Amino acid sequence: MPRKLYIETYGCQMNVADTQLIAGELSRFGYESTDSPADADVMLVNTCAIRENAEVRVWGRLAHLAECKKTRPWVTLGIVGCMAQHLREHIQAKAPYVDLVVGPDAYRRLGDILLTDRDAPFVDVRLDRKELYEGVDPRSDNGLTAFVTVERGCDKFCTFCIVPYVRGRERSVPMDEVVRSVRALAADGVREVTLLGQTVNAWRDGDHAFGDLLAAVAQVEGIERIRFTSPHPAEFTAPIVEAMAQLDRVMPALHLPLQSASDTMLERMNRGHTYAHYRDLVRRFRDAIPDIAITTDLIVGFVGESEADFEQTMAAVEEIRWDAAFMFAYSPRSGTKAHEWTDDVPEPDKNRRLETLIGRQEAISAEINAAQVGRRFEVMVEGRAKRGNGWWGRTPQFKNAVFDSPREPRLGELVTMTVTSSTAHTLIGEESPST
Ligand code: SF4
Repeated sequence: MPRKLYIETYGCQMNVADTQLIAGELSRFGYESTDSPADADVMLVNTCAIRENAEVRVWGRLAHLAECKKTRPWVTLGIVGCMAQHLREHIQAKAPYVDLVVGPDAYRRLGDILLTDRDAPFVDVRLDRKELYEGVDPRSDNGLTAFVTVERGCDKFCTFCIVPYVRGRERSVPMDEVVRSVRALAADGVREVTLLGQTVNAWRDGDHAFGDLLAAVAQVEGIERIRFTSPHPAEFTAPIVEAMAQLDRVMPALHLPLQSASDTMLERMNRGHTYAHYRDLVRRFRDAIPDIAITTDLIVGFVGESEADFEQTMAAVEEIRWDAAFMFAYSPRSGTKAHEWTDDVPEPDKNRRLETLIGRQEAISAEINAAQVGRRFEVMVEGRAKRGNGWWGRTPQFKNAVFDSPREPRLGELVTMTVTSSTAHTLIGEESPST
């Protein structure tokens, strides 16, 4: 009987990709994935250290999963990922029922660790500058879309961010290995890949830069759609913009984090660029790819943010008109540079600014989507819509699309949809004959 593996994932797409990688690696040891902790022989919680509330949830989930061990004491419960790395000294005191604590550079050892008899919890949180997981093929969750990590770690040291400390220094997966991995996914039926890295456009392999990687992946037979996330605004070069514009399989969607439009804040965040640079980059992308959708990340209430700084971010919301944004109020994370500074924006001000920002951005997202009514989009069918009898998928711009069809489309099929209505987050429509 194959042993069963249950993994619960928190945090960013990098963590989703690592979960797929762990599932791929452990399948070599005979583990099959399960959605039910009650069936599992191994339960792993893949954690995120970016925000404190994610950590609070993880402590609760670990305690809950530990209950399963009461009736099935042979079950292994592990914590993996960024929080394992960040809080390694505290985990055993806070969650003594945890059997494994494994950081993001040690997943290759998980199979062997699970085969070993242990009297005490196993801890491996060494950062490994060389670990790129070459030869380990990720598992696609739905058989259609997959993440491919092309770069690990980060050298940017933004002052609010824990990533460089928990994921180590930036290193790129060689081009041949990325292409091999994408070919393996295509052979398994995957039709869309998302290339991942903390600063994905900083990817390098000798003389090859990120635009060359996009071109190489676009050659892989069977892959219809290529996406990437998250790029850093300071790392875009003209060849990357050109590659995106020229390669049909690279989708017109760009998640371009800004964080704040105040240059004072950007400098304090150590972002390495100004708002003028960002605005110019957006203009270059929109000139080169007119139907591109651009989304962003914004933080309000960072250390020392004045009303005037915040108003600059609000002005950017009007000027850039992002398709969507992930918006947060700043909260300090231990281990980061900004944690040493006084978190001096009062909570009520942070909350008010966040509310104002979300209100305006949501209205703009709704306006942009409403302007799509009557347009046709190619949607890759990924499943049934949550409500009604329709189908769900994504447009090239990575917008959620829900549509009715008189027939039963195949999963992975590219269907032409005409938009009939919209919300801030979804385009709604019906299948129309392709042209
Ligand atoms: S670029 Fe900045 S925000 Fe992004 S992972 Fe690196 S340090 Fe964190």
